[in-house]
Amino acid sequence: MANCGGMGECGMLPDINDARIPDRIRERIQCHGCWNWTGSDSGSGRGGGYGRVSYRGATVGVHLLMWRLLGGRRLRPGEQLDHECNNRRCCNPLHLRPRTQAVNLRLAHKRRVAANDNGGRAACA
Ligand SMILES: [Zn+2]
Repeated sequence: MANCGGMGECGMLPDINDARIPDRIRERIQCHGCWNWTGSDSGSGRGGGYGRVSYRGATVGVHLLMWRLLGGRRLRPGEQLDHECNNRRCCNPLHLRPRTQAVNLRLAHKRRVAANDNGGRAACA
């Protein structure tokens, strides 16, 4: 399990007014505990519903971008950012937690009926 424990892993104190967040991104976030992204998302299909934004020429997940901008630690291979709040549009780093895919899939099993389509990688642990 996570070493850092608790919310706010690794001492981050995310601030929506942080100067590292570009204004064009900040103005599309509504702050209600969750930082709800109001811009475009990845659609309604599998893997959909996540906020997407172009940043330095690439299209990235808003939650991932905010994690990086605000000093979240680099993800290890096999890790992805999980939403503790189950709100895919949320990009508040306090609500994000790096998890290995195996753990994430186990949790996903509880949340969804099945997780048998995971991009061709290993099946459920
Ligand atoms: Zn949230």
